[in-house]
Amino acid sequence: MFAGQTVHVTAVRRKDESIEYLEVPKTEIPWVQALKKIPFIRGIVGIVEASAKGAQHLNFSAETFAEGEDDTKKEEKKESGFSLTMILGVAVIGVISFLFGKFVFTLVPPAIEQLIFSGMFKNQIGHNLLEGLIKIILLIGYIYFISLTPMIKRLFQYHGAEHKVISAYEAGVDLTVENVQKFSTLHYRCGSSFIVFTVLVGVILYSFFTYDSFVERIVQRIVLLPVVIGVSYEVLRFTNNLREVPVLRYLGYPGLWLQKLTTKQPSDDMVEVSIASFNRMREADLRNK
Ligand SMILES: [Zn+2]
Repeated sequence: MFAGQTVHVTAVRRKDESIEYLEVPKTEIPWVQALKKIPFIRGIVGIVEASAKGAQHLNFSAETFAEGEDDTKKEEKKESGFSLTMILGVAVIGVISFLFGKFVFTLVPPAIEQLIFSGMFKNQIGHNLLEGLIKIILLIGYIYFISLTPMIKRLFQYHGAEHKVISAYEAGVDLTVENVQKFSTLHYRCGSSFIVFTVLVGVILYSFFTYDSFVERIVQRIVLLPVVIGVSYEVLRFTNNLREVPVLRYLGYPGLWLQKLTTKQPSDDMVEVSIASFNRMREADLRNK
């Protein structure tokens, strides 16, 4: 999936080799646009939007891919004809599952930390650091295990293909499969980096607050969740701006390390689909300007 200035485009290869597109115009709701201009708030709006959009596009990919396997399903879906409600539903599910994931990864690490280390020492910053460490370990373990499933592996290959296409485009080369394959699957400006930053920002932010009980600690984490997301987004933007600066560019490296898990080498065929999707997005942007 590629996000352009005016549309989001997903391309899927069907079983009959043809490429199908899902083109969703970017929402121009005035108050959402206004919120997206405010630092710290824009990160929260962006993440909610991204998880809604992401779920829609993933659902499209999964359905189109399945359609090729089983044509009867397609017929059934046509008859029922509630695709708009379904798409809205999928967006809501996307947001809910994002929030659920965020809650689990916010609440489980302090619980584990408390269980294992609470009696060992008094320094709360030390405990927060351990909490961050547990969070990273859980996150890496989780991503690693889901990446073993064929579906997520494919998804991560496509993720790698998207990064390659963007890097090739930014380098100004012709977007052919051969050219694009030469580029790295890692890209500086990526959602994976955001995840790493939320962990680091959390550890720092939590250190400004003290807690007297486990419940207080948990409540703090929940209350601070939007702040962590908002600040992390600003950090991501900041490191993006620094990526040409020597030494400071290393600030973006933790995000690149995580991408070693969330991207995989794509096949030529996947790169072809990604290029098609990217070109379609560019065409739509030009058309809408
Ligand atoms: Zn990415």
